[in-house]
Amino acid sequence: MREPLTAQPPISRKGFLTLTGRYAAIGAMSGLAIQSSKDAFAQAPLKATSPPARVPAKPEDPIVLEKWKSEYDQQSAPTPTPLPPDQRVGYAVVGLGHLSLEEILPALGMCKKSKLAALVSGSPEKMKKVAAQYGVKTESCYSYETYDQLKENKEVDVIYIVLPNGLHKEYVVRGAKAGKHILCEKPMANTAEECKEMIAACNKANVKLMVAYRIQYQPHNRKLREILQKKEFGPVKVVEASNCQSTANPDHWRHKLKLAGGGVLPDIGLYCLNTTRFILGEEPTEVFAYQYSTPGNPLFTQVEEFVSWQMRFSNGIIANCTTHYNVHESRRYRVLCEKGWLNMDKAYAYKGQDLSSAKADGRLELHQNIGMAEVNQFATEMDHFSDCVINNKKPFTPGEEGLQDHIIMEAIYKSAREGKPVKINSTQTNAALHGPEPELG
Ligand code: NAD
Repeated sequence: MREPLTAQPPISRKGFLTLTGRYAAIGAMSGLAIQSSKDAFAQAPLKATSPPARVPAKPEDPIVLEKWKSEYDQQSAPTPTPLPPDQRVGYAVVGLGHLSLEEILPALGMCKKSKLAALVSGSPEKMKKVAAQYGVKTESCYSYETYDQLKENKEVDVIYIVLPNGLHKEYVVRGAKAGKHILCEKPMANTAEECKEMIAACNKANVKLMVAYRIQYQPHNRKLREILQKKEFGPVKVVEASNCQSTANPDHWRHKLKLAGGGVLPDIGLYCLNTTRFILGEEPTEVFAYQYSTPGNPLFTQVEEFVSWQMRFSNGIIANCTTHYNVHESRRYRVLCEKGWLNMDKAYAYKGQDLSSAKADGRLELHQNIGMAEVNQFATEMDHFSDCVINNKKPFTPGEEGLQDHIIMEAIYKSAREGKPVKINSTQTNAALHGPEPELG
């Protein structure tokens, strides 16, 4: 039921129109109707006021402002509904590198249910500056050595691990022992075995564990999945996916096996793997892979440069995936269906997703571009996790989802090593690896 309008303008809309109408009528009598009515508007006292708005009592319901756009324009999203700061879930961000400084900390300012509460870094100088920028108290700044003292910090509900992959396990296990819920960056760890230990540690401590698969919360990718679920394009036959970028620093942790757990596959190839599983809602039964690194290139002495792999699904679907560390940025996939195709450019980027499709219609081929409002992917996924903490729900992308990707990546490496297909015996369905569908605002 619509709630009554609560904002009462000091001068009502009707009163305003009556007043300006009166000025206009006087002008018309003098024979200068149009000019005078303009003058009348100019002479009418300007006063700051509030147009009618609906202000629902429930914090999760948005304020509805006076409408001015026609229905033929793209409508704006509902106004944001941030919780009062003292009701938001407090985050400790661990590791102040590119992702934290460039994306996560700014995104926390756009969150509705999450807020920054603490920082963990190995660089006191960097942390001091970041703490001042984001208003974090000195006593809520920790080193890797004092990390376990987060246990005592009542303002921290969630620890967000944004460290090199090889450190995820240690910091997730220590964080769980400190009694905090854990959001862990992708890839979840270096190996499937480590993932199992992380899941067990969080279960033992009775804390939630979520892997930060932001694409599973991104509107364009979710829309494409919904279209596939409704079979609007008929059954899916083939997925073509690629995620490529160019790297340059052999000293960076991404090129050290112990810290990265692998090369391009766990870093960015993972997006092709995880997003294909997400949009199909199916688990692969077999993989067949090829891997290559340019001999003598110092970037690729420890980790691989290029992986190309095929995933086979029980219903006959094939996914052809490619990931490369020495190709200009290209992040896209296309789903080939019986009656048409769906294409996602910038599929795995932080923004700019471009969803288009083609479909047979008699002698025509209809092309469509589905425009949707952008959202901040990091704010959306953090708010989903906060929602799970507040309402005691399982995250949509729990530890089991991260573990499944590691099982498949290990099969991909094995196949590339042995030069033959490798079977994957998934004991769980895609749905069973997920929590309930997220309620995204
Ligand atoms: P980065 O190198 O920019 O930052 C890593 C941070 O870890 C730095 O602050 C560094 O000081 C700290 N660190 C602690 N111990 C370290 C060690 N022994 N060696 C190197 N650094 C150490 O990396 P990043 O790009 O911010 O990536 C961090 C994590 O986030 C990785 O797991 C990565 O896969 C993930 N990531 C996710 C996305 C996404 O879109 N979800 C994007 C980029 C990175």
